[in-house]
Amino acid sequence: MPELLPRARSSSESVFARMSRLAAQHGAVNLGQGFPSDSPPAFLLEAARRAVGVSDQYAPPVGLPTLRDAIGADLGVDGADVVVTSGATEALNVLALALYGPGDEVLMLEPVFDVYVPQARLAGAVPVTVPMRLTDGEGWALDLDAVRAAVTPRTRALLLNSPYNPTGTVFTRAELESLVALARECDLWIVSDEVYDELYFGERPVSLRDLAPERTFTTGSAGKRLEATGWRVGWIACPPGLAGNVAAIRQVGSFCAPTPFQVAVAAALPVARRGGFYEGLRAEYGERMRLLAGGLRDLGATVFEPRGTYFLTARRPGWSAETLVEEAGVAVIPGDAFYVEHPAPAGLFRLAFCKSRDDLERALERLERAAHVSA
Ligand code: PMP
Repeated sequence: MPELLPRARSSSESVFARMSRLAAQHGAVNLGQGFPSDSPPAFLLEAARRAVGVSDQYAPPVGLPTLRDAIGADLGVDGADVVVTSGATEALNVLALALYGPGDEVLMLEPVFDVYVPQARLAGAVPVTVPMRLTDGEGWALDLDAVRAAVTPRTRALLLNSPYNPTGTVFTRAELESLVALARECDLWIVSDEVYDELYFGERPVSLRDLAPERTFTTGSAGKRLEATGWRVGWIACPPGLAGNVAAIRQVGSFCAPTPFQVAVAAALPVARRGGFYEGLRAEYGERMRLLAGGLRDLGATVFEPRGTYFLTARRPGWSAETLVEEAGVAVIPGDAFYVEHPAPAGLFRLAFCKSRDDLERALERLERAAHVSA
């Protein structure tokens, strides 16, 4: 057999896919992978039904004009600076290919969302991770001095995520301003992954796009916003004038995102914004988060309540993700899935609460039973 290139070997089955596979195999409640159990809203589904059979051929690689304008209007940017992608995953990959050259260093935080590291490597770049601090009392904290200390003459970009998967952190304006000052001083691009921009439980997150429009690419996801993760519609809001260059790269990837779903998302974004959809989502997910957090605390876990996303992190030394899925029938993501360079805090897990209340209650009951068995 001919050998694969070393960079292709960096990709194996992701822990998210593996835990979903094990969950199906063991009939487990799946609090691992971050996809909602609720259906997308009716206004989105109806728009897609109307589009299939009408808008079935290629869209322009940069995205349908109506969708670019709808995203631009939603984000407060010019539609001409928006590139539509096949989900935020592709958006991030396109940016890795567009911005990073061989040997360039890309700064990111740890715990790190799984695709950032392999995408940087596949682009020939070197991912450099800076660990967030975690204490049981204070939770997760950004270590600005460590970020500053990690910059070298080869650093090309800062890759950030707020609200942050997996920690649930929403970075403060002051933290983001310090990062922007650093990016300006060292002439770094900023890639700000903002797929959870509407999923927050306190103050609205500040977008890096508003603080440094000249150097920030923000990524977004209709899958996350509108609970349709399988539709593969995402976007990049580029600094002014750069959308054409970015689209030139994405057109040699998947060429374009699915056209009928682009039409549907274009129709749905203003409806979601005007009709209170995101407020409803936040209220519902806030309650589910508190249900899961309270239940886990009752089981002796230390819970780090998220300020955004639909994930929470918790520490419960003695639990193992493998045992939980196989014996308790609950799938969660082990904390070490988010660590590449540094050791993960002991007993750390990420649990998704974008699942039905029934699922959350069932998972808590099963965990309680398992705790009794192992006690
Ligand atoms: N970024 C983050 C932080 C995510 O959590 C996810 C999905 N889990 C993505 C990007 C990818 O989003 P999409 O499904 O639109 O590709």
